[in-house]
Amino acid sequence: MTTEVPDHDDDPAERKMRFLFALRSRGVTDSRVLTAMERIDRGRFVKNIFSDRAYEDMPLPISCGQTISQPSVVGLMTQALAVQPRDVVLEVGTGSGYQAAILSLLARRVYTVDRHRRLVREAVDLFRDLGLNNITAVTRDGSFGLPEQAPFDRILVTAAAEDPPGPLLAQLKPGGVMVLPVGQSDAVQSLIKVTRTDQGFDYEELRPVRFVPLVEGIASE
Ligand code: SAH
Repeated sequence: MTTEVPDHDDDPAERKMRFLFALRSRGVTDSRVLTAMERIDRGRFVKNIFSDRAYEDMPLPISCGQTISQPSVVGLMTQALAVQPRDVVLEVGTGSGYQAAILSLLARRVYTVDRHRRLVREAVDLFRDLGLNNITAVTRDGSFGLPEQAPFDRILVTAAAEDPPGPLLAQLKPGGVMVLPVGQSDAVQSLIKVTRTDQGFDYEELRPVRFVPLVEGIASE
């Protein structure tokens, strides 16, 4: 006799529970971050043949040869950023828009920049669809930040630079926090938390990560 095992893969509630469980088991414990990640459906940000893997804890390819980060890394970075409800946040590396969407539920306003026009355009459409109206997405070389909106309470960089870019350090408010991956793009990088103090900057190394590189200039599409 064969026993039919019910397949829960398509049950959204079950899927969400497994998604949140994976986040918790990898160290995402901040309840505000978990609530934001529960509310933003990652499936909306993955459009290609990989969309059925949107709820697994893995990075996935998006347009323009870029990647949407692994959910647990998004959670850990967001948690490390310690966003406050009145904060103005800059994200460098819009990509799919997923990270910006999560930040938008935690902050007062989010500016997000990407060097690919197409990614910015697609993200803007999604933000509108999802009713996330406190995000401004701009096509820009984010290594120079967004001087016209600076300074920022929080800065999150989701592409790896060899060192924290000077303009981004300069655009951080006193008491502000920046979280970013640093290191060579083809080697293991470190996630760093930079806090601006009255005296200068404090650096804390958080964990090894792997991100696409921060590339100079605006892309052709
Ligand atoms: N945060 C994204 C994932 C980012 S992938 C998400 O939630 O989906 C890294 C992104 O950084 C890519 O989209 C890439 O185009 C962008 N990027 C790389 N160098 C950049 C630069 N100098 N300025 C702005 N964006 C850059």
